[in-house]
Amino acid sequence: MQSVQHPESPVIYLVIPCYNEEDALPVTAQKLTEKMNSLMQTGKISKESHIILVNDGSKDRTWQIIEKLHNENPLFSGVKLSRNCGHQSALLAGMMTVRNECDAIISMDADLQDDINAIDAMVEKYCEGCEIVYGVRSQRETDTAFKRGTAQGFYKLMNHMGVELVYNHADYRLMSRRALEELSEYEEVNLFLRGLVPMIGFKTAEVYYARAPRMQGESKYPLRKMLNFAFEGITSLSVKPIRMITGLGFAIFIVSIIMLIYILIRHFTGHTVDGWSSTAVSVWAIGGLQMLSIGVVGEYIGKIYLETKRRPRYHVETYLK
Ligand code: UDP
Ligand code: MG
Repeated sequence: MQSVQHPESPVIYLVIPCYNEEDALPVTAQKLTEKMNSLMQTGKISKESHIILVNDGSKDRTWQIIEKLHNENPLFSGVKLSRNCGHQSALLAGMMTVRNECDAIISMDADLQDDINAIDAMVEKYCEGCEIVYGVRSQRETDTAFKRGTAQGFYKLMNHMGVELVYNHADYRLMSRRALEELSEYEEVNLFLRGLVPMIGFKTAEVYYARAPRMQGESKYPLRKMLNFAFEGITSLSVKPIRMITGLGFAIFIVSIIMLIYILIRHFTGHTVDGWSSTAVSVWAIGGLQMLSIGVVGEYIGKIYLETKRRPRYHVETYLK
């Protein structure tokens, strides 16, 4: 297919998932309004551009704040999910709800840890014909050493498991309408967007920026959620863990054969207590075989698992357009 000409002054929608962000939202809204206005005034983006705030089932006043912003300023739109679906689903919900109204979407977090001045470069790359532009952190000094360390380990582990990721890229990215249309074809329930998006391909680019500390509120990703997220990433994009179990079972089975030979030799040379041989052999052989069988069954479950993710991933309750 021929590469499409992107419009000069595109309609850009910022999509921002918000979960209990009542502290951060007012500041974030203020900064984004300034940024969007200056981009509109210089003609870099269309005046039709919007900021979409997705309320991911917050327990605090986040939705009331979004409603208020929407009433006061037409720049803001709100999407309310029926309950908390998690960051990834909330982001997808926002993107899928508005994808036909704009030329491109830029996704970012509500705490503005990702430098909003990188938007300029993202839009430029889009105008040059890129379908996906990744925001990449050039440094992470402002995150705690622990967060940096665990994040680094996470990328290494993911690569090891055969999942391709853009290094130091989170969910700050621009996706064109076309890329979003392709993304909508991915039907998995276990969403791991930063693993999926690189699979779309097309002409892509990277934009670098420094990551700032969270301004208001606290991280919604404690260690438990981060571990869950990593596990999700691996199991939804790779069947390697299952293969490792199969391998382990196979190895134990080999050991059991060696044990069998050894035990037989001991038996025939008369060095054993009555009944020991058969017991020892069955412990090893059955253990190994069981492990191997579980691995093989798992192999199939893994395949079925990858096929059956058809449940809706989110439910939009309200769209304040
Ligand atoms: N978030 C969400 N649903 C959740 C958890 C988080 O929509 O269940 C949003 C949150 O409001 C923020 C973004 O996802 O806009 C990233 O969360 P956070 O900044 O807490 O993560 P961190 O930057 O610490 O990884
Ligand atoms: Mg954050």
